[in-house]
Amino acid sequence: MKERRTCRCCEKDLRGRADQKFCSAHCRSNYHNKENRKRLNLVREVNRELLKNRKILKQFWLAEIRELNPAQLEKIGYRTDRITGLQAGQIYCCYDFGIRVLNKELLQIVHFPEGQVILREAD
Ligand SMILES: [Zn+2]
Repeated sequence: MKERRTCRCCEKDLRGRADQKFCSAHCRSNYHNKENRKRLNLVREVNRELLKNRKILKQFWLAEIRELNPAQLEKIGYRTDRITGLQAGQIYCCYDFGIRVLNKELLQIVHFPEGQVILREAD
């Protein structure tokens, strides 16, 4: 018995070649456009979260708050799983800002405006 094959886009029965996936060029392009949109939305979502993280770190930095606890950050919507890099194996970067884990209860905000890490301001 032959397996029923359907168009990936509109689910109409397919009667062409065995490797046929779409009933028409229109359905093929519709399907791929939808898939591309999904991918683009994922990228936009991650970018939005990263920019939000950066904004949060920048606000603390501008308020001259350099140390805080992880709960404070999460409470205001900081996504610790969104980073742009890991520096020296201990600073979770978000563009030109970063978080250094001092211990379980304490994080330090760092800023490296031109690639140079500033861990503490001069006393
Ligand atoms: Zn179709």
